[in-house]
Amino acid sequence: MTKTESTAWHQDIAHVVHPYSNLDAHSTLGPTVIARGDGCYVYDEHGKRYIEGMSGLWCASLGFSEKRLVDAATRQLNTLPYYHLFSHRSHPPGIALAQALTAVAPEGLNHVLFSSSGSEANDAAVKLIWYYNNLLGRPQKKKIISRLHGYHGVTVASGSLTGLAHVHRDFDLPLPRVLHTDCPSHYHFGLPGESEPAFTQRITDNLEQLILEEGPETVAAFIAEPVSGAGGVIVPPAGYFERVQAILKKYDILFIVDEVITGFGRTGRMFGCETYGLQPDMMTVAKGLSGAYQPISGLLLTDAIHDTLRAGSRKHGAFAHGLTYAAHPVAAAVALETLHIYRDRDIVGHVREVAPYFLEKLDALAEHPLVGQVRGVGLIAAVEITADKAARKPFEPTAGMGAWIQNRTMEYGVIVRTIAHCVALCPPLISERQHIDELFGGLSRALDDAL
Ligand code: PLP
Repeated sequence: MTKTESTAWHQDIAHVVHPYSNLDAHSTLGPTVIARGDGCYVYDEHGKRYIEGMSGLWCASLGFSEKRLVDAATRQLNTLPYYHLFSHRSHPPGIALAQALTAVAPEGLNHVLFSSSGSEANDAAVKLIWYYNNLLGRPQKKKIISRLHGYHGVTVASGSLTGLAHVHRDFDLPLPRVLHTDCPSHYHFGLPGESEPAFTQRITDNLEQLILEEGPETVAAFIAEPVSGAGGVIVPPAGYFERVQAILKKYDILFIVDEVITGFGRTGRMFGCETYGLQPDMMTVAKGLSGAYQPISGLLLTDAIHDTLRAGSRKHGAFAHGLTYAAHPVAAAVALETLHIYRDRDIVGHVREVAPYFLEKLDALAEHPLVGQVRGVGLIAAVEITADKAARKPFEPTAGMGAWIQNRTMEYGVIVRTIAHCVALCPPLISERQHIDELFGGLSRALDDAL
């Protein structure tokens, strides 16, 4: 047996179905088995150390060994390991978390419906919007507009919102009432010679046109991430959201903001909503809500929407939606402690302090011959890999350049994630300069090796 081919390696191939992995290639490639974590680092089963430049999947914002979260989980497991919120039951960590979360959330979002993942939170948003419009007596107002290259999850509804062809292909998605509009990336979709303001005007005009063509009376909501993550870390152009929000208001369309990645400090403010001046009617959070130590998510609602749900109960009786593990007490206790850590250690302030250094290192990569563009805000960024810098031409997928760079970077003890045609970076929010140096050091070496 070679060093890589451990017993765990073989058992994984035999039994584990891997998300977002080539299931055919996996039978020969096998897994990288990550066995433990420490601060901003993880270690594989052979003891090799990696700096986690992606916080796992954009989520482990406090790193991988936060004792306060372990203690919070242990305390709750010893007190009440499970209870639920169905049929008017409740429990202390669920109540305290709802209070703490709505206290830090953008103004007006005073109510929260918990679930366990980002997909479920977005799924619930779709379902509640349909329910809401039925209750308001406008059953025709049901369409939801999402954006190409947006990412909102993989369940039937949230996977439909996701604007990526491979998430739909052969899965019979998207659902018919989900529409997709332009991705706000000037680098990728700007016309030759088109300025960024002209691009922004054009794509927001397209949004308005789409609404008019469909009929505003049929369009219920628009969903967007403040900064798209898994679709390629798209930082919105100046003025984009201002114009989008004006259009939504004009046609009485709800705005769902997906803060699953951007929530809790990632962009240098508590929420992307603050960074970009967004006023959501609904907002979804997950990932950083618990620093990823427990699976938990939330759909936050305004008073107006919540009032309509209450009216629904006057009509129908019990609100017939809920998940067994919604606000699971251990997850809720961990999330509550996570929010306390963000506050006690001023994590958002820390992000603002290190972000300029992170973005400076990022900018330094822009001159590299294989780099078409760098983009980022706070502690989230992308390095666009290009085969032809001037023509902004990506490598052919068959060239396998993205995977090559990702693997090479790992050889240097750095974990990044290649998505679309870019290398994504999303390090833990507790990262210090030395971690940022290591992250960019490994990536730069891999890029040089790829020349
Ligand atoms: N929304 C956004 C913005 C995400 O990035 C993700 C996952 O990466 C999701 C939703 C889905 O979350 P989950 O994987 O927890 O279902």
